[in-house]
Amino acid sequence: MANVWDILAEGSIAAVGFSIHGQPFVIPMLYGSDRELIYLHGSAASRLMRQLETGLAACLTVTLIDGIVMARSAFNHSMNYRSVVAFGTAKKITDAAQKQSALRTISEHGSPGRWAEVRGPSQKELKATTVLAFHMEEASAKVRTGPPSDDDADYALNIWAGVLPLHVTAGDPIADPKLRDAIELPESIRNFETRQLKPRSKS
Ligand SMILES: Cc1cc2nc3c(=O)[nH]c(=O)nc-3n(C[C@H](O)[C@H](O)[C@H](O)COP(=O)(O)OP(=O)(O)OC[C@H]3O[C@@H](n4cnc5c(N)ncnc54)[C@H](O)[C@@H]3O)c2cc1C
Repeated sequence: MANVWDILAEGSIAAVGFSIHGQPFVIPMLYGSDRELIYLHGSAASRLMRQLETGLAACLTVTLIDGIVMARSAFNHSMNYRSVVAFGTAKKITDAAQKQSALRTISEHGSPGRWAEVRGPSQKELKATTVLAFHMEEASAKVRTGPPSDDDADYALNIWAGVLPLHVTAGDPIADPKLRDAIELPESIRNFETRQLKPRSKS
């Protein structure tokens, strides 16, 4: 399971799938995890949350794209990736302290350090939000790394082959036009930039 949790720790969006009366749905969602449970949140009024909280069978996937694998043949092109497919069920968190903690986990997952810098959720906001704990009953991780795998005869071709690495990078922060004067960039955003920015490969 170590690989599964490591991939979940690095991902940011989960695709959550479930079926209602034979109609499959796959919905993108933010998430957070504590290496035991995966936490999801959403509007208490949404169909998504109302369905998931009934404990119906669900499937959650997270994908990290690491690069495009350029082979000498069209057929052998591929992607370098790390992905997780997890089957399980979600349960509504009703305990107030657990709910706060799960929301903090989701927030810290996407924006580390931000929770401590912002106003916390009010009672009204908490009431309007459903938080679910997704319990993985079965999960698999799949990883592809390394150069292309070409057919033996194709290595003699004069065609460039290799890997084009792909990274998610943060751009320059754009201040809210309604931001009050003299408010400096907080630590979480400054750290986010240094943590996420990676040099682009030139080769
Ligand atoms: C990156 C990302 C992260 C998100 N994170 C969260 C989250 O953490 N929590 C959360 O509640 N919501 C999140 N959303 C929104 C979420 O994907 C759904 O749109 C929303 O929760 C569905 O609400 P609903 O049940 O009222 O919609 P439904 O009533 O179930 O949707 C009605 C129909 O609208 C269409 N639809 C719904 N969602 C989408 C979509 N995202 N894209 C295209 N068509 C759609 C589908 O055809 C669907 O059948 C996220 C969206 C994105 C893109």
